[in-house]
Amino acid sequence: MLSVMDRGKEVFMNTYAQFPIVLEKGDGVYVYDQEGNKYLDFVAGIAVNGLGYNHAGLQKALKDQVDKLTHCSNLYWNEPAVEAAELLVKLSGLDKIFFCNSGAEAVEGAMKLARKYAGKYLGPDKVEIIAMNNSFHGRTYGAVTATGQLKYQKGLSPLLPGIKHCEYNDIESLQEAMNDKTCAVLIEPIQGEGGIRPAEKDYLQEVSKLCKKNNVLLMLDEVQCGVGRTGYMFAYQRYGIEPDIVALAKGLGGGVPIGAIMASKKVAEGFSPGDHASTYGGNALVCAGAKVVLEVVGQETLLEQVRKKGTYLKAQLTNLQEKFNDIIEVRGHGLMLGMEMNKPVKEIILGCMAKGLLLVGSGEKIIRFVPPLIVEEKEIDFMVTILEEVMSEIG
Ligand SMILES: *Cc1c(COP(=O)(O)O)cnc(C)c1O
Repeated sequence: MLSVMDRGKEVFMNTYAQFPIVLEKGDGVYVYDQEGNKYLDFVAGIAVNGLGYNHAGLQKALKDQVDKLTHCSNLYWNEPAVEAAELLVKLSGLDKIFFCNSGAEAVEGAMKLARKYAGKYLGPDKVEIIAMNNSFHGRTYGAVTATGQLKYQKGLSPLLPGIKHCEYNDIESLQEAMNDKTCAVLIEPIQGEGGIRPAEKDYLQEVSKLCKKNNVLLMLDEVQCGVGRTGYMFAYQRYGIEPDIVALAKGLGGGVPIGAIMASKKVAEGFSPGDHASTYGGNALVCAGAKVVLEVVGQETLLEQVRKKGTYLKAQLTNLQEKFNDIIEVRGHGLMLGMEMNKPVKEIILGCMAKGLLLVGSGEKIIRFVPPLIVEEKEIDFMVTILEEVMSEIG
C-alpha cells in the first residue's frame, strides 16, 4: 500500500517541498503524526494557530456554528461576522472591515481600495503603489507583484503595472521613490518571509509622516505580524502610528481560513456597493472562530504574556548565540523571532524534527520562531534544549 506521502505526490501539484511527516492531530502546543510521534510546534501553521490546537473555546464556537449555519453569502447579514468586525474596530482604532479568505486576498483588496480611494478623492493620476524590497505579500498577481523578492516572480511576467519598490528601513529611498503619482505605500511592520526583519521605530514613524504630508495612504501588511503575534494586538500599535489600511489573515482565524482589510472611515469610502466582493469572505463559520480568537488574544493579560515570553525566548536564543559562532543575529518582537545563521538552516530544522520539534525557516539562513501565543516558559526551555543539542551535533 502506498503511504499518504506517496499518494500526495501522485495527486498534488508540485508546489511544496513537504517535510516527510503526516500530521494527524494537535493538542495545545503539540502536534502528532500518523505514527504517533509527538512534536512541540514552534511553527503553529506559520503563525496561524495562535491559540494552539484544540483550544476549548475556539473548538466549541466552531462546532456550535457548524450546527447552526456555515455559509449563507454576503447577500445577507450574519451575526458572527458583525461581531468579529465590531471586535476588530474596537481593537484597532480603525473604522471599517472587509472580510476575505486569505492574506493575498487581503493585500489584493487593500491595493484595490487604495486605488479606488485615490481615484475618487485624490485625482486620476495617483495610481502608483510603493512596496519594499525583500517583502512578501502573497501569491496572487497583485500581491506577488508587490512582493519585493524576485524568486517569487520568476516566470510570471508581465506583472501588474504601477507597483514599484524601494529599500526597507531607508527613509531616503522612499522619499526618492515617492512622487505625484504615488497613492499608497505598502509595508510589513516586521517582514515575515523576508527573514523576520522588523522596521525600526523611527523609520516607520517617518514613513507615516511622509505619507501624511504627501497625501499618500499608509497600507500595512500585518498578515503575519498582526493579531497578537508581536505582543500587541496589531504590530503598528507598538510603533505608535495610525495606518490608513491594514491587511490581516494568518492568526485571525486561529486555523480557519479568514482574512480582513481594515480601513479608516474616510478611506473605506473608496469602495461603493459592487466594487469588491468575496463569496466566502467572512462567512458565519470562520467569523465564529475569529470572534473567539479576537476575544482571547485581545485581552491585555494575554498580550502582556506574549511580550514577556517573547523577551524570554529572545534571551534564550541570544544565549545560544554566545555558544555558537555561526549564529549572526537574533531579532524580532514578541513571539515572532528569527535567528540568522551564516549557513543554510535546513539540516538543523530536519534534525529538530527528528527529535520532536517543529521549526520553519524564513529564507535559507534564518530559523523562524512563531509558536502558539499560549506557549509556556517550560516549552520554550524544551525547544531551546533540543535546538542546542541538534546544533552541537551538527557542529
Ligand atoms: C503569509 C503572508 C501573506 C499571504 O497570505 P496567504 O494567506 O498565504 O495568501 C501575505 N503577507 C504576509 C506578510 C504574509 O506573511
